[in-house]
Amino acid sequence: MSGKRHVYAFQDGDGKNKHLLGGKGANLCEMTQFGLNVPPGFVITTETCLEYLEETSRGLPEGVMTQVREQMAAVEQATGKGFGDAQNPLLVSVRSGSAMSMPGMMDTILNLGLNADTLQGVFEQTGDARFGYDAYRRFIQLFGKVALNVPDELFDAEFDAVKQKAHVTADVGLSADDLKEISERFLRVFEEHTGRAFPEDPYDQLEIAIKAVFGSWMGKRAVDYRREFNITPEMANGTAVNVCTMVFGNRGDDSATGVAFTRNPGTGENKLFGEYLINAQGEDVVAGIRTPKPIDKLADEMPEMARQLAELRDKLESHYKEVQDFEFTIERGTLYCLQTRNGKMNAIAMVRTSVEMVQEGLLSKEEALLRIDPAHLEQMLYPRLDPKARVEPIAQGLPASPGAASGFAVFDADRAEIQGKDQGQKVILLREETKPEDIHGFFAAQGILTSRGGKTSHAAVVARGMGKPCVAGAEGIHVDVQRREAYVGGRVIREGDMLTIDGSTGNVFLGEIPMVEPDFSAELNRLLQWADEVAYLRVMANADTPNDAARALKYGAKGIGLCRTERMFNAVERLPVVIEMIVAEDQAQRQAALDKLLPMQRADFKGLFEVMSPLPVTIRLLDPPIHEFLPTERQLQSDLEQLSHLRRSVLGMEVLAGSMILLHDPSAAKSEADSMRHIVDLELVEQAIEKKTLMLKKVRALTEVNPMLGHRGVRLGITFPEIYKMQIRATLEAEAECAAIGIEVHPQMMVPQVCTAEELKRVRGYMDEIRSDVEQKSGQRLNCRFGTMIEVVRACMRAESLAEEAEFFSFGTNDLTQATFSFSREDAENKFLPMYNQAGILQDNPFEVLDAKGVGKLMQLAVEWGRGVKPELSVGICGEHGGHPQSIAFCHQAGLNYVSCSAPRVPVARLAAAHAALNAVKT
Ligand code: PEP
Ligand code: MG
Repeated sequence: MSGKRHVYAFQDGDGKNKHLLGGKGANLCEMTQFGLNVPPGFVITTETCLEYLEETSRGLPEGVMTQVREQMAAVEQATGKGFGDAQNPLLVSVRSGSAMSMPGMMDTILNLGLNADTLQGVFEQTGDARFGYDAYRRFIQLFGKVALNVPDELFDAEFDAVKQKAHVTADVGLSADDLKEISERFLRVFEEHTGRAFPEDPYDQLEIAIKAVFGSWMGKRAVDYRREFNITPEMANGTAVNVCTMVFGNRGDDSATGVAFTRNPGTGENKLFGEYLINAQGEDVVAGIRTPKPIDKLADEMPEMARQLAELRDKLESHYKEVQDFEFTIERGTLYCLQTRNGKMNAIAMVRTSVEMVQEGLLSKEEALLRIDPAHLEQMLYPRLDPKARVEPIAQGLPASPGAASGFAVFDADRAEIQGKDQGQKVILLREETKPEDIHGFFAAQGILTSRGGKTSHAAVVARGMGKPCVAGAEGIHVDVQRREAYVGGRVIREGDMLTIDGSTGNVFLGEIPMVEPDFSAELNRLLQWADEVAYLRVMANADTPNDAARALKYGAKGIGLCRTERMFNAVERLPVVIEMIVAEDQAQRQAALDKLLPMQRADFKGLFEVMSPLPVTIRLLDPPIHEFLPTERQLQSDLEQLSHLRRSVLGMEVLAGSMILLHDPSAAKSEADSMRHIVDLELVEQAIEKKTLMLKKVRALTEVNPMLGHRGVRLGITFPEIYKMQIRATLEAEAECAAIGIEVHPQMMVPQVCTAEELKRVRGYMDEIRSDVEQKSGQRLNCRFGTMIEVVRACMRAESLAEEAEFFSFGTNDLTQATFSFSREDAENKFLPMYNQAGILQDNPFEVLDAKGVGKLMQLAVEWGRGVKPELSVGICGEHGGHPQSIAFCHQAGLNYVSCSAPRVPVARLAAAHAALNAVKT
């Protein structure tokens, strides 16, 4: 063979080279080479695809079709059939397949090689005219749609017309003559729509099909899918084309086709899971056109095939050491494996199979940890229906993807996108069945409900992959998209009606049903213990209340890395005292209010310490600008207007009463004025006006143009030392009280917004002074540590001098990102950032994914300089990025000691920390 190699036979291709051969192609090669019964075929490489897409007008790159012909000759030899042979024709499938699995996103053509001549050969081979015409009409439709964009509806209309004429409802009821008529009608549709004759030469067909499949890599569906799942060119670039001998599951009752998972992808149970249809082609199962049978039934209908299928399952798992999602066909008693890939499973199944595969000796602990995407774990913490809710389902379908969701019913994917994504509403996508072009609706919906199709239908597979709840095949529901209504047992579901689906039971409910938090499974616990064993980063939680802390503890947090104390000030009974403190005219008044707050804060801290004992709890001193606790200027102005109006009305009544006295009816006038005064006490109104006016004055005095860069954080603590002193005292007294009753606690005091060492020195001064006072009074030795947040650019630059004063650093990456980019963290995300991301100016939202190159660089410098002064300096992160897997990997590389994130993200962070450590060892 001369020139560049574009094509690899299944016997030759490198099964590990998914980049070159695509996942499907590589697996077909690998399966062929380790002895599974795969129909002969070959793969055209992804490189060829990219070369072709560079300039499609030049046609396929040079040499491709020559190599294809050589490979076809080999396939002909292996099968004993001829491509285009009118006596014994070889038919092939032409399928896409890139390095990353993108189910249903690209195109496939089946039965290629059929034409008027070879059709006769099929009749002779099979003695079955019905089968021949059925294959032919499928080919014409797929080829027309994929290669030349003939709309499906044109074919469907012809198909339905013949069905109606024949008085049949199901495809299987159609006779050979009916299918012949359908083929003829389809050829006419093709010619009318494309203005050209249907290509008869099988090699012409093949060349057009190869180009079409290559072209589908840049189709809208595929491009959208890659964008949504962040599939970069490094992960998958171009699609391969797999050309494979057709085998038929629709050759009669000794034939079948099916799809199966080697283990249950919903629960992880170690048992073959799947569906099959006797006398059918593969896409009949996937498209949900006929409702398939559960795989267990195969043992009754075809016992020998069931035995071989079990054997195939074992071979696949022991070879791939991963749960496989495979397609099989039985053609007249012979079992073929057509495709396999790693099974997409929900988190529950991933965790259970990971733990069990370690116990079975199939995987090491490290492999078991690495096969789970940390972000996926959050699914296990999704809400489920409250078992106490006594509600009757209106319909039941198949539990296709677990978890529960409520939302407004919408009947098509575009509407789902508008309501769900653009308007931010919760929606449930309700369809008869879904197709790959509905993918944008999946992204926007809380859950998916279909009235047709099985657990391996498109809707089920895609929803499971996304971790969204799905109920499939709820056959009691009849969907009428035209009227935008669905009917179920005499009820009508209109678009916009609230529905709840339970993807774990298959139940569908009208209305919004209460949900409860899920439990932490024993398997997840086990897996995360393994994660902790290999991780270097400790995972702490951001928690402000004993309840949050208890949840964080349940999820395995190793302490509290951030308690935002201002949240405690917002409680209804405290706010008036806080306001008293703010509007205080002098220090004495302020101190009086703080004296009232002290016991409350002490109790707060003690509550946290008790729950977390003996783990560390990091108390951050007050951070936000204090005017945040006051009403807004606009609110106060409107209150004052109303009060003045009220005052005028009361005074007006008095004037009115006075004039009546002057006139003639003093007694009536007096009683009117009295009754008004009875309802509204003028004195109280006057007092309220006075209070609000004072408050307005204060609010105006505190107003800042840039409050995020204003009088907040340590700046407050320096200008109003009594506030920080109260919080420090509350912390230390709580520590002393705990110590006195034998509760071991490790508080850490953390100062926000620091930019100079002098600020830290002063606050440390308050602490030293209060510590000796509390120690003296309580007789307890206190161990509270002292540290600083690093969330200001100058703090990074001055890390050396800050390290002299601090025992630990905690990066506040929310503010540090804001400061580094000069992007307001309040506004950027709903103003220009989405456009920046879409236009590729910024790849990610930096408030979500840590900007390693900019913010990260500052962090690295701060760590290096801080540890230069104090090698034992403990460093962590408590901004939102602390729960984001990719950012956690960065924190590991940067040598941090811990990450702190919200409680529900703790399991995700624990696994991500393990991944970071394991991946660092690998590289
Ligand atoms: C931060 O800035 O990252 C941080 C944790 O503090 P806050 O979000 O409370 O400003
Ligand atoms: Mg901050």
